[in-house]
Amino acid sequence: MEFFDADLHVHSPHSIAVSKNMNLENIIHTCKLKGLKILGTGDITQPDWRSYLKSNLSCKNGVYSYQDMYFIIQTELEDQESIHHVILLPSFDAGEELQEKIMNKAKGVTGEYGGRPHVDLSPPEIVELVNDVGGISGPAHAFTPFKSIFRSGKYDTLEECYGSTLKYIHFLELGLSADTNLADRMACLENITFLSNSDAHSEGPQSLGREFNRFEIDSPSFEEILKALKREDGRKIRLNVGMEPRLGKYPMMFCKTCRIRYKILTKDEVTPYIQSLPLHKTLFDSYAMDDSFVYYLLETHEEVMDFKNRVGNKEVKCTKCAREKKKSPVSLGVFDRIDQIADYDAPKHPKHRPPYLGTIPLVEMIRALKGVKSTRAKSVTKIYNTLIEKFGTEFSILTEEPVISKIRAEGEIYSSIANLIEAFKEHTIEFIPGGGGKYGEISLAEI
Ligand SMILES: [Zn+2]
Ligand SMILES: [Zn+2]
Repeated sequence: MEFFDADLHVHSPHSIAVSKNMNLENIIHTCKLKGLKILGTGDITQPDWRSYLKSNLSCKNGVYSYQDMYFIIQTELEDQESIHHVILLPSFDAGEELQEKIMNKAKGVTGEYGGRPHVDLSPPEIVELVNDVGGISGPAHAFTPFKSIFRSGKYDTLEECYGSTLKYIHFLELGLSADTNLADRMACLENITFLSNSDAHSEGPQSLGREFNRFEIDSPSFEEILKALKREDGRKIRLNVGMEPRLGKYPMMFCKTCRIRYKILTKDEVTPYIQSLPLHKTLFDSYAMDDSFVYYLLETHEEVMDFKNRVGNKEVKCTKCAREKKKSPVSLGVFDRIDQIADYDAPKHPKHRPPYLGTIPLVEMIRALKGVKSTRAKSVTKIYNTLIEKFGTEFSILTEEPVISKIRAEGEIYSSIANLIEAFKEHTIEFIPGGGGKYGEISLAEI
């Protein structure tokens, strides 16, 4: 058997808010930088995207490829409860069949932005439909506060959602703000294989392949991927690679209106910085605030959980919005939502669970060192490209000791990058966690 690094959830320019530069040439360029071998096609029920891929990919023994990249036929559907599902399919024909089956249940499937359609079917009906065309489905970005199975006010277990079709659910996609340690606090996920996928909306290394799965399979075919997801015949995922959850877009509580993030602190978590902020009092709690965060100061774990439950019930209104006389409820982030529905305080990893490697994307390290706002800044891209040209794929740069030593020997910013990689491995990096759609960042203040 062989190892293949695979990112099985991406989008095409036919989904809303996707870069127009998502094409095979650009996608494959990034896959090489990242060291990916298998990619989901994205958006396969959209006919323009499907015919573009059909005329460019070759197919040999049921394996789709373009140059030296392999593809798995893939899409994402939104059901009538606004839950997203990742769908993997055996062939273009299955993609076409699925399109035909959803045509009278969804609007605009063939339109320019029909790539990720809203389908007027329940979660079990989606599962059955995908089964009928020979595919497999599972919840996408399962814990995000929007469009997910476990979002606040939706389901607490897989069974509640899928009912009798639960037997067909073999995988769940963690999403950027969750990892195996968080998800394995839920008993209902014990027999489920976790996928870490990028859900990329653009072709750059910031997005594509920022999460991926290392499969141990015989060949890069749909059948082999299916066996690995079901953990049959020795096929399996050997490693999940994903962003450190605090760098995701939704780990923290946030206000949907003004997007300020909320940090809940007990007394011993209060830093000198937070102490320097003015303290405000409400009927229930006291809080401090800066531009990015409202800090709620609570005494005990019980008080923290009670606060989270009140947020879950939409009883806590945003204190920043209240100053402008707006009443906007605070929403739970991924970390808090998992706290609410978890069965265990600490993760219980089943035997089959592979390690999860949480990473800091290389572009985020360079961004922080250059002191610029965006990971897409030219100065960041330039250093990123030089690193890859000289030292190999992003994954080898982040993980292989001899490569890190070579980078350090280059001097200047390169040795700072090597130091950051080391600091990350030693867990001494400070994070400013994301929330409300804003990505988390690393902070160099402590280094
Ligand atoms: Zn989605
Ligand atoms: Zn607000």
